[in-house]
Amino acid sequence: LSDLHPMRYSLSGGHDFDPDFELRPNVLDLLQHVFIKQIVGREKILQKQLIELIDLNQQIGVIEKTRHERIHTKRGGHMKTQTDPDEVDDLATLEVLDENIVAEKLQIRYGRDQIYTYVGDILIAVNPFHKMEIYTPQYTKMYIGAKRTANPPHIFAVADVAYQSMVSYNTDQCIVISGESGAGKTESAHLLVQQLTVLGKANNQTLQEKILLVNNLVEAFGNACTVINDNSSRFGKYLEMKFTCGGTVVGAQISEYLLEKSRVIHQAVGERNFHIFYYIYAGLADRKKLAHYKLSDSKTPKYLCNEHIKLGPDIVSNTFYKEQFDAVEQCFKVIGFTLEELGSVYSTLAAILNSGDIEFSPVATEHQTDKSDITNISVLDNVASLLCIRSDELQEALTSHCVVARGETIVRPNTVEKAAEVRDAMGKALYGRLFSWIVNRINSLLRPDSIGEDDKGLNIGILDIFGFENFKKNSFEQLCINIANEQIQFYFNQHIFAWEQDEYLNEEVDARMIEYEDNRPLLDLFLQKPMGMLSLLDEESRFPQATDQTLVEKFEDNLKTKSFWRPKRVDLGFGIHHYAGKVIYNASGFLAKNRDMLPADIVLLLRSSENELTRKLVTHPLTKTGNLAHTKASFLSVQPGEPGDTPYHPRETTNMRTQTVASYFRYSLMDLLSKMVAGQPHFVRCIKPNNDRQSNKFDREKVLVQLRYTGVLETAKIRRQGYSHRILFANFIKRYYILAFHAHEEPAATQETCAAIMEKAKLENWAMGKTKVFLKYYHVEHLNLMVQQAT
Ligand code: ADP
Ligand code: MG
Repeated sequence: LSDLHPMRYSLSGGHDFDPDFELRPNVLDLLQHVFIKQIVGREKILQKQLIELIDLNQQIGVIEKTRHERIHTKRGGHMKTQTDPDEVDDLATLEVLDENIVAEKLQIRYGRDQIYTYVGDILIAVNPFHKMEIYTPQYTKMYIGAKRTANPPHIFAVADVAYQSMVSYNTDQCIVISGESGAGKTESAHLLVQQLTVLGKANNQTLQEKILLVNNLVEAFGNACTVINDNSSRFGKYLEMKFTCGGTVVGAQISEYLLEKSRVIHQAVGERNFHIFYYIYAGLADRKKLAHYKLSDSKTPKYLCNEHIKLGPDIVSNTFYKEQFDAVEQCFKVIGFTLEELGSVYSTLAAILNSGDIEFSPVATEHQTDKSDITNISVLDNVASLLCIRSDELQEALTSHCVVARGETIVRPNTVEKAAEVRDAMGKALYGRLFSWIVNRINSLLRPDSIGEDDKGLNIGILDIFGFENFKKNSFEQLCINIANEQIQFYFNQHIFAWEQDEYLNEEVDARMIEYEDNRPLLDLFLQKPMGMLSLLDEESRFPQATDQTLVEKFEDNLKTKSFWRPKRVDLGFGIHHYAGKVIYNASGFLAKNRDMLPADIVLLLRSSENELTRKLVTHPLTKTGNLAHTKASFLSVQPGEPGDTPYHPRETTNMRTQTVASYFRYSLMDLLSKMVAGQPHFVRCIKPNNDRQSNKFDREKVLVQLRYTGVLETAKIRRQGYSHRILFANFIKRYYILAFHAHEEPAATQETCAAIMEKAKLENWAMGKTKVFLKYYHVEHLNLMVQQAT
């Protein structure tokens, strides 16, 4: 029996399967052969199994036949319901579709290493947690310009559809990848970039190489080992690949969102700081350069201290880290950073690590007992020397602060706690700004020369951003991430549901009204001005006397909706009913996190640095030039161009209160949305099959929750009932008139002309709108095929 299974799989599964191959007689022959040899004398015992096997064999025949038929019916344009439950590449074609069926199908496919599945034109990717041999150059080739039904579902197919649409329709594209941490978003993004660089035929090898390296470089600085994922992205990323109108790749641009800066100064149990800190340690040690960067090879810097990590074996002599350091340096060089810049980057990182070790102790003077002093001046000197600033001034800026009262500047001492806060704020700010600087520098190095401001060319954006989060304790970071997801979900809903319905109604095409949950009220709850949650947070952040307690009370007084509530017995707690479920947040630390203050004294000091990079980090406008004018206002709860919604104020201002995290976050979100809505969207939903990172383990309950979070089911329904393609009469006729008219004819762009073409093509189940023809994707494939044959 077991011998037969591989046969079955190789006959029914493999890609070299020939649909015209008549399977049944062969298998029957084979079975008879096997059984005659093996069963003689044991017929009785095996009789039952024999019958079952013959049965199985017949099923195999049926399966193959169904598949065969399916291919033909698709070619023939008459979609039939598939009878074989195991061979469905597109779940939207199933007659009955509910949560359990989707989960079951995914499970069956997953068990056969078919990790990709379509639901309409959305791709579901279930993390295989093992290396798959499906990303080789052979596969790359197989998916270029291929019909969707010609190959099994694949991430390369998404790249191809986006690329082909971009070139054919001359429009920007946007691929949204979503899923929880560890689901495979970043891997998917890499694979898309990989395929797109091939499709974009970068005629210069170096550019292709540079684009592929961008991800590696940014991830060294923005990713870290967490309990969930060894290479977890701690920031959101929107990578735009730039093409000429002809489809040649000419550059790339990245935007980063919500870097988790707090990781620089503190990591949870079992987690680590950003990769780069370990890489640089091991790399510099290998080159005997630790001393040059004032790093000790015997004492772990406080910012890297974590109970499981030993400086020596775990960091300094870790060969993996050392190799990664070499790789990162290579990325920097290939992309075009100068050696001088590299040296400054390393110095900044070393300064951050050193600064974490600055210690303070209280000083009691005659008048004051809340003064602090630095106990290890040598560490202070190290930091000052790495940042090229004066040590005494750094000490001053850490242990005291200036206040302006009645026109006079008064110096006040910092308590030990306050001084430590300033120290940590400096570490976080330096890292955050360094990250932004690197991203900006990459952008200027990879900005296409040929494409100016007026001629923007075309682009394909790839969004890889954290999914919805609901932990035991949820703080400001989770709130921001979940608001971003709420906004992305809104975009998804709008695209999938509302646009479909709107268009059907406008075109007077009969469409059953499909109900769906609109999460717009929730977006308003967060983003509206002046009474939305983020506005209230900003308002409260401006009051020096405000506390996290007054903040939650403010929320409670102003947010009158059933999506917001105060749970009893949870201090500083508040609940939000997100589209994906209920989350209890804890407002502790919200105000401080939102203010994210870097004291003016530190900013001014860093500006006096003799190092160009250090100065740039605090003066250079790390501007994100988002073009809000392109934003479709209907997408945004907040109208662009409102006063106070000014895009980005460079952070150089000494009055840090003008730029809170919330207002900057809101701006980034709008900026992102404006880019997304300008393009045609494609969706990849990554699913994590289990929490143990195990291959071949499929936790049905876990998958169900994720399917719910990502709206896959609603999608399936509406896609199945709806039309995935709608083409303006003129475009439709231009492309397909040859099927019903002579080449020299110029038929009018009317319903009648389009209907004549459709009838000639013998297609059914399409719909005629007022300006467009409404088609299913298989109609389009069929039409394209016919045109190919006709010309
Ligand atoms: P996310 O970005 O969603 O947090 P990642 O893309 O970092 O998740 O994936 C987490 C891990 O899962 C990867 O490090 C890799 O081991 C595994 N993985 C994800 N996608 C694939 C894939 N297509 N093939 C093989 N392994 C994968
Ligand atoms: Mg990731």
